[in-house]
Amino acid sequence: MVRRRWLFADQLGPHFLDGDQPDQTVLLVESQAVFRRHRYHRRKAHLVLSALRHRAAELGERAVVLATATYRQALEQLGEPVEVCAPTSRAADRFVRQLDGVTVLPDRGWAVSRAEFDTWATPRSRLLLEDYYRDVRRRLDILMEPDGEPAGGRWNFDADNREPPPRGAARLADAVEVAEPWWPAEDDIDAQVRETLDRWERDEGIEFVGRDGPRRFAVTRDEADSAVDHFVDHRLGQFGPYEDAMLADDPWMAHSLLSVPLNLGLLHPVDVARSAERAYHDGRADLASVEGFIRQVIGWREYVWHVYWHTDKGYRDRNELQAHEPLPAWFDSLDADAITARCLSSAVAGVRDEGWVHHIPRLMLLGSWALQRGYDPAELTDWFRRCFVDGYDWVMLPNVVGMSQHADGGLMATKPYTSGGAYINRMSDYCGDCAYDPKVRVGERACPFTAGYWSFLHRNRDRLNGNPRMARQLRGLDRLGDLAELMDQESARGAAAP
Ligand code: SF4
Repeated sequence: MVRRRWLFADQLGPHFLDGDQPDQTVLLVESQAVFRRHRYHRRKAHLVLSALRHRAAELGERAVVLATATYRQALEQLGEPVEVCAPTSRAADRFVRQLDGVTVLPDRGWAVSRAEFDTWATPRSRLLLEDYYRDVRRRLDILMEPDGEPAGGRWNFDADNREPPPRGAARLADAVEVAEPWWPAEDDIDAQVRETLDRWERDEGIEFVGRDGPRRFAVTRDEADSAVDHFVDHRLGQFGPYEDAMLADDPWMAHSLLSVPLNLGLLHPVDVARSAERAYHDGRADLASVEGFIRQVIGWREYVWHVYWHTDKGYRDRNELQAHEPLPAWFDSLDADAITARCLSSAVAGVRDEGWVHHIPRLMLLGSWALQRGYDPAELTDWFRRCFVDGYDWVMLPNVVGMSQHADGGLMATKPYTSGGAYINRMSDYCGDCAYDPKVRVGERACPFTAGYWSFLHRNRDRLNGNPRMARQLRGLDRLGDLAELMDQESARGAAAP
């Protein structure tokens, strides 16, 4: 007998049902428990509920939709056995496996299975993205020449994809041909979701972080397909060169905004990568942009998924740099107005207002700030997971503990990712109007990122000493004549907003 398929809110694409069973029945659950336990961004709650309700509307009579306090209550109310594809978090995976009447199927929606990744990873001491990415390109035969060489003779076009923002442009479109992102049109379901969330806040004591606003991301497969087509046809060509650049008035730059529909399970990453590959073969986008995008979708995204499952349960608590500072209230509550540093204020405002900033503000502003100040990596992981519209446990744990905070001792990244103000100045237009000066490290105009960078190196000198990729930076530290003054300044700054 075919069982009803229980779909979690990040399993909403057609590939989570069986294509050969057009009448397959479905269970969808709106559980309040998760929103009671954690203070999520209001926009994330909106996207999740909107996606669930749109999927329910698409499935019509095939779906039972239950709004309950917990998943367990929903299953009791349903009163029939169900099957579910393995959930995406360790906690949910443990939960479904101890339920009676629930059959757990293998996970879906990835280019490489967990077993295949384990075979690849087990003999290796380091799980480096570049090695994994090349393996996936070969496996999928994507961006490959018939002779087995990578398209264009290179695996990696990063060197072409690190342009600073065009000089004098307030928005990327002022300088290059790039269309506005695809934006969805809200409908009655979004209005109902907004009413539900208002009621939860008003009557049920559920609290959110961040501000509400127009929905920015796709929540149905049709919307997601439109978003992919629009990106590939009108934005992908400019994605590569400017993927690391930041402009104060253009948070979206040429980014795809596909992480939400991908992480809701609406799109299969291999389909998305193939769309970009076709654009290269048709001459609609150049190879550097296409390679950079494909690297994100079937390289980095898949890699963090597998690292999440491959590492042991203790990974969450890794804290190699012994960083134990609690997140200050201004950071935790997204109080951008309390921050003078223009770059950090802009990034925190982006999270507050949209629940989204692109990967460089995440890594080189928010993450770098937290690393320099020694914020607790587990607490920071939870913050990223709750505050970002595309944040899920599997994404944020490796990205924050491994990549951003170097708390796993270098399993994922060969060195800590942090910089002084010079990098931020080169890659953005923030510094010109900032109260601080990226070149100054001590005194009233001292850039908190520049001072924080040296302070971080000094505090962690012994731990970083054996790392050849940090040797040059540590030699620079030895040449600073004002280190004692700088350390006094940074300790006086304490946890205050910069
Ligand atoms: Fe950020 Fe420093 Fe530049 Fe100000 S001067 S915007 S704090 S990097």
